[in-house]
Amino acid sequence: MANAKPDNCLFCKIIDKTIPADIIFEDNEFIVFKDINPKASMHLLIVPKLHITSLAHTDDSHAELLGKALIKLNKLASDNNYSNGFRTVINTGRGGGQEIDHLHLHLLAGNLRTFG
Ligand code: 5GP
Ligand code: ZN
Repeated sequence: MANAKPDNCLFCKIIDKTIPADIIFEDNEFIVFKDINPKASMHLLIVPKLHITSLAHTDDSHAELLGKALIKLNKLASDNNYSNGFRTVINTGRGGGQEIDHLHLHLLAGNLRTFG
């Protein structure tokens, strides 16, 4: 199964609280924490608690979750006074620059640096 939860998933460990992170929001479906290597003044990761390997591993059954992730991201930007502009990034697969194989959205705002 492509979305089976592997034992060594870093973001699942953050969700399980076995690895620390600077968590700024959490509910039943999502956890949001600061990127350890920020590429903007605000660099948050919006992470579904459900282990989904990447955007390439989603289907119609994930439509509501994906929609909620984008709405949550917008609210985080607005709550942090970045409603004037922000960047949303979803790296997918090695060719797309994905390093952590657990679907996540990057929210970047303020003094954006090159995102490689
Ligand atoms: P990706 O390249 O997979 O889209 O993004 C992974 C992001 O996770 C990178 O921006 C990286 O800085 C961040 N990251 C990697 N390891 C950790 C960690 O242990 N804690 C936190 N908070 N972020 C991490
Ligand atoms: Zn995971």
